[in-house]
Amino acid sequence: MLICIFAIDIGSNMIYNASMSYLAYKTKLQLNNQQKTKMRQCAGYGRWVWNWALDFKQKAYKEGIKLNKSQLRKYYTNHVKPDYSWQSQLSSKIYQYVFINLDEAYKRFFKGLGQYPRFKKKGKSSNSFTLDASGKPIIIGGKRHKLPFFGSLRTHEKLPICSSKKITFSEQAGDWYISFFVEVNFLPTEKTRHKVGVDLGVSKLATLSSGVVFENPKAYTKAVARLARLQRDLSRKVFQSSNWYKAKLRVQKAHRKVADIRSNTVHHLTNYLAKNHSEIIIEDLNVKGLIKNRHLSKALSDAAFGMIRTQVEYKSLRSGSTLILADRFFPSSQLCSNCGHRQKMPLSVRVYDCPSCLIKLERDFNASVNLENYTGDTRVRGLLEPRALTNIAVGLTALRSVDGVLPTVPCEADSKRQSSLSSFG
Ligand SMILES: [Zn+2]
Repeated sequence: MLICIFAIDIGSNMIYNASMSYLAYKTKLQLNNQQKTKMRQCAGYGRWVWNWALDFKQKAYKEGIKLNKSQLRKYYTNHVKPDYSWQSQLSSKIYQYVFINLDEAYKRFFKGLGQYPRFKKKGKSSNSFTLDASGKPIIIGGKRHKLPFFGSLRTHEKLPICSSKKITFSEQAGDWYISFFVEVNFLPTEKTRHKVGVDLGVSKLATLSSGVVFENPKAYTKAVARLARLQRDLSRKVFQSSNWYKAKLRVQKAHRKVADIRSNTVHHLTNYLAKNHSEIIIEDLNVKGLIKNRHLSKALSDAAFGMIRTQVEYKSLRSGSTLILADRFFPSSQLCSNCGHRQKMPLSVRVYDCPSCLIKLERDFNASVNLENYTGDTRVRGLLEPRALTNIAVGLTALRSVDGVLPTVPCEADSKRQSSLSSFG
């Protein structure tokens, strides 16, 4: 039951165009054991080629030869692959993407964006590989999909009919997922309210100045006891015994579930905010700084403030609304939203009791109204600045553990833009 959606936008001219955006889908596959074995073989093949290519490239470099991806691939196809007959049983797309990915990894490293490419180890590195249909679009839709090399595969969830150039398969906590990008046209949504102030909290995830409240599911907090127990079970097993692997899988699944619940809630909140309001005002919280605070950190990570901020940013862009970040020193909880009186408000005080105009307001609601009335405007809109691109990368990491809502949108692939995304795929 995991579909995730994510919109990113990479314009060649760096100017955001509201009608062009990408959605990334990721959903769980329903596989039998035979299919799972085949998936693992493919991933193993990819790993084998990666390690070969990295080793070969390094050795060549030591002898003063720099090999690019097509030279590497050519050498591999002509001189290495023929020696390993098992490789001809598997799709040749797998190794072709390995050379592309290795090249990207090197590029990221030289730009200072990533670590030096490392050898992949079975069981340590995540299992994944990419396939395409030799330039033909891969049509996806419904629950049963005709995919290159595998033929018909089922997903747990029904997908809208769309097409993509390439597809990535990955294994997480024993389950296999399929992910791909499609281009979609987003149209500005009709708004029900002009401005909304959003107070983010720990006990309640978000309080809106419209009176709407999003409770925090505290997925992590609730699951923490179970996680601790599973972790303890794992530590009592003999390292790398079959029971150890089973226990490890249970721990991974528990973590996965927590992440899914959390990101599902955040997606609901951010969709609601971006779709229904023309101006969204949130506090520009220093998330990293806050997480350093030991006492608040677990609850705050749980509330996933960083995720909210990133999502509101790209979702407001695509639905035609404006995100305003209130200065982090704006005293939203200390001001009376009715008369402007200011007083100290320790965290334990849950009601704003104004001595000046005698109004009594719930603490978080009062803060959200102050945010709605915020005037020191810091707009985030219009330009995709380098920081926004960083957010895309952050978002794509988040994608691996995201659970969202499936929209019914017409989608079609676009070869030019798709190819510019290969580094993210
Ligand atoms: Zn007052």
